[in-house]
Amino acid sequence: MDGGEERRKRAVGRLCSICHEKKAALKRPKTLDQICRECFYAVFEEEIHKVIVENNLFKPGERIAIGASGGKDSTVLAYVLSKLNQEHNYGLDLFLLSVDEGITGYRDDSLETVKRNEIQYGLPLKIVSYKELYGWTMDEIVKAIGLKNNCTFCGVFRRQALDRGAALLRTDKLVTGHNADDIAETVLLNILRGDIARLGRCTQITTGEDGPIPRCKPFKYTYEKEILDYFSTECIYSPNAYRGFAREFIKDLEQIRPRAILDIIRSGENFRISSSTKMPEQGTCERCGYISSQKFLDVVNDKVVKVGKDFMNKSRAVIKWCKACVLLDGLNRGLPKFGIRRTKDSQKVGEHRVSNSETTVANFESKQCGNLDF
Ligand code: SF4
Repeated sequence: MDGGEERRKRAVGRLCSICHEKKAALKRPKTLDQICRECFYAVFEEEIHKVIVENNLFKPGERIAIGASGGKDSTVLAYVLSKLNQEHNYGLDLFLLSVDEGITGYRDDSLETVKRNEIQYGLPLKIVSYKELYGWTMDEIVKAIGLKNNCTFCGVFRRQALDRGAALLRTDKLVTGHNADDIAETVLLNILRGDIARLGRCTQITTGEDGPIPRCKPFKYTYEKEILDYFSTECIYSPNAYRGFAREFIKDLEQIRPRAILDIIRSGENFRISSSTKMPEQGTCERCGYISSQKFLDVVNDKVVKVGKDFMNKSRAVIKWCKACVLLDGLNRGLPKFGIRRTKDSQKVGEHRVSNSETTVANFESKQCGNLDF
């Protein structure tokens, strides 16, 4: 009998520690309280409402896009948010926003779930596809680049596709289903990678407030285990080994210390970043016009000459492209590895040279996979 089974058996027969009437049906991972299903639903929704109110996530009258992948997190988020919106009169106009990456046999199924959510929750749905936005499906990208760097393309394109979809819906904010486990993993990954800029940003409940469409994470303190309607759909192209390692490590920690997930988030929140640390800036891509949180690449005569804002040759005209445009340009010119590799100074990338070590495109703030939602 495994530990979880043993705990479930022990919980049976005890009364709910909240209502003291019904039998306890589950043990909450963060508090270890044994409670009945009804009290669990109530307390789960109440905690999310509290997070929304305490962090001033929304204002009455705002249009909110819910990043909906059809996975458990975004499905529960859509349900809970529409319920709280009605019960507490938030006064929000909610929309479902999905991205179709064009992965045969994977995304088709989860998009069916989102279409069911559209009907069940009565929320308008907008689907944006890689094919329509970039001219490529992920199936086609994988054919061109193989299975090694596919998630880099997918992560960068998805992040921008969500922004573009939210802009098409004219929404004020985009909410995503990132949960406490995801954020703890991201804190850990950013520490392991020494990515100070993202470490500072990844624990914020709202990001991009200086841009046109800020992103919020109402599930920031919600444990993955407590997110119901769980169903797992793993992308057929998924490697995600590094994040997988962090996830397993956190699950092991949680076995020993149930509060570990929240403790890691608190640690991330309390990191103080030295004022001398150089942080990347947001800006608008000169090619597609969309905002990018990635560093900008200066492209001159088809060569990436510098990353960031200090140009090597100030007299020369430079073009600043976002990462999605650089990747797309490489794909369209038959140079799929362009902009992909972690580069050292002046390392060659295809026919191009990149002169900064910070051009890695792994974005640990963005959830890359469908089973991780957005
Ligand atoms: Fe895209 Fe995730 Fe599949 Fe990678 S694993 S290709 S990021 S959906």
